[in-house]
Amino acid sequence: AAKSAGDSLLRHARPVTNGAFTYISPVPSDNPKLLCTSPAAFLSLGLSISERETPRFRDLVSGNYFWEDCYPWSTCYGGWQFGSWAGQLGDGRAISLGEITNTGTNERFELQLKGAGKTPYSRFAGDGNAVLRSSIREFLVSEALHALNIPTTRALSLVKIDRYALRETVEQCAIVCRMAQSWLRIGHFDLPRLRGDRDLLRRIADYAIKDVFDGVDKLPEPFEAGGNRYERFYREVIQRSARTTSKWQAYGFINGVLNTDNISIFGLSLDFGPFAFMDTFDPDYTPNHDDHMLRYSYRNQPSVMWWNLNRFGIDICELFASENKVDDPEFISKGINDNDENTMNKKAERVIMAGITEFKKIFMEDYKELMRKRLGFVDSKDTDFDFTSETLNLMEVLKLDFHHFFRRLSSVPLFTYSSPLEFEEGAKIVLPARDSSNSKAIKKMSHFLQKYQERLRQEETTDDIERKKRMNEVNPKFVLRPWLVQEIVRRVEKDGEEGLLDRIMKMLLSPFDDHWGDEEEERFCGDVPQTEQQLQCSCSS
Ligand code: AMP
Ligand code: MG
Ligand code: MG
Repeated sequence: AAKSAGDSLLRHARPVTNGAFTYISPVPSDNPKLLCTSPAAFLSLGLSISERETPRFRDLVSGNYFWEDCYPWSTCYGGWQFGSWAGQLGDGRAISLGEITNTGTNERFELQLKGAGKTPYSRFAGDGNAVLRSSIREFLVSEALHALNIPTTRALSLVKIDRYALRETVEQCAIVCRMAQSWLRIGHFDLPRLRGDRDLLRRIADYAIKDVFDGVDKLPEPFEAGGNRYERFYREVIQRSARTTSKWQAYGFINGVLNTDNISIFGLSLDFGPFAFMDTFDPDYTPNHDDHMLRYSYRNQPSVMWWNLNRFGIDICELFASENKVDDPEFISKGINDNDENTMNKKAERVIMAGITEFKKIFMEDYKELMRKRLGFVDSKDTDFDFTSETLNLMEVLKLDFHHFFRRLSSVPLFTYSSPLEFEEGAKIVLPARDSSNSKAIKKMSHFLQKYQERLRQEETTDDIERKKRMNEVNPKFVLRPWLVQEIVRRVEKDGEEGLLDRIMKMLLSPFDDHWGDEEEERFCGDVPQTEQQLQCSCSS
């Protein structure tokens, strides 16, 4: 079907003035080669891993087959990019195939091929392709985040195809089969709002409430008595986003491009371009090479999410009318009239204020709790947030690795220490090898360990072994760091070392395990090579 004349017309990128999606088939690919699949993604779908050996699966994930009675589609959205309105965007190289419901968990996933050819929403000069380099990145990080219990879009498979695209050089292309409970973004609401398409805005919101969140009953109470379903929907998005943002901060994950078109209304981490996990703790780090203003740096992520949710509130604020009014045909067709404009504006302001205020509150609560757990505290104390801040300051001053720090801290036998000398021994366990005889660093760290011990003594249980176990369940040993991603891409792409992907997949799916003593695996979990700290990445993909 993709080769028919009608299809090439559809595949023509253009401004689309109405509607939210277009039926479009993937471009068939030549010589697809399945490089890797995620066992965890099969599990989430309720499918047996043996499925991957079937020709039908291979054809499906390489764009060469789609289910009968399913009509693949791409959607249209807009977005605020780096603070400015960017107009129409959309699935420029992503095509959705259909949905699969896991009958065991009742969870439903929409499967989508990324890099499967042009759509009406391809960006100007966009070719609808995804290069292997960026596909490996997206494939791996989707599953790595999931394994860290951070809500995210997922990746089922990575396929290399006989297609090449021009980026900085000519590059090999690939297709990732991604999946998500919903691919709806704030951008899907930005666009109809900016087009003035009130009817479409309402229909997308109703679709989200009914089909994505399974009905209004599943949504939280409105902020105000008498608030309607859209207010509840807004609140749901606020709460999910806050929880996900707290996890990004607690685990040092930086998306790198938090534009509204990359913000999921389901609270998923979404769109993995120049993402990174933090190496050395540095709040100003942005993995996005083009982010000169540090808008999307680690430090700014919560504020930027707050800004994005504010925009989202503005998008749908017309729908925050009173419960009895919102479905009134007169209101639907004419919108707000002069008489109630003032009341409506006040109402909208109140809901948005309540929303973004709640975002802050939930974000802070969750973040504090996650950090408390990472530090190994079971009981919550008023002083914990200050202690967390002090810990982060120490990490910044001593240029410590954000992940190794917690993992190493867990293995210090703190309760055996009483003398300053013993604390100094402990300091050497936490500090990186380069600081093993740096007396200033040792002093600072042993001082910290004393305070840490004091705090731990306030716990019900003071047992080093238990604490280690507890901490290792929340502090990953394996982190998909920038230098590692770079090495994997090089080895797979240039050296054809495709088996490496399965090995990495195994490690990233069990990030909290003590790995298996294999020399290379230990290197992947070890100190970051000095010249490969805090790598940055450009957006070209
Ligand atoms: P991103 O920077 O990944 O958020 O992408 C911004 C927009 O550009 C989205 O609408 C993408 O679908 C579109 N886009 C990115 N790369 C391509 C490409 N190679 N071909 C067509 N559209 C693209
Ligand atoms: Mg995007
Ligand atoms: Mg992208």
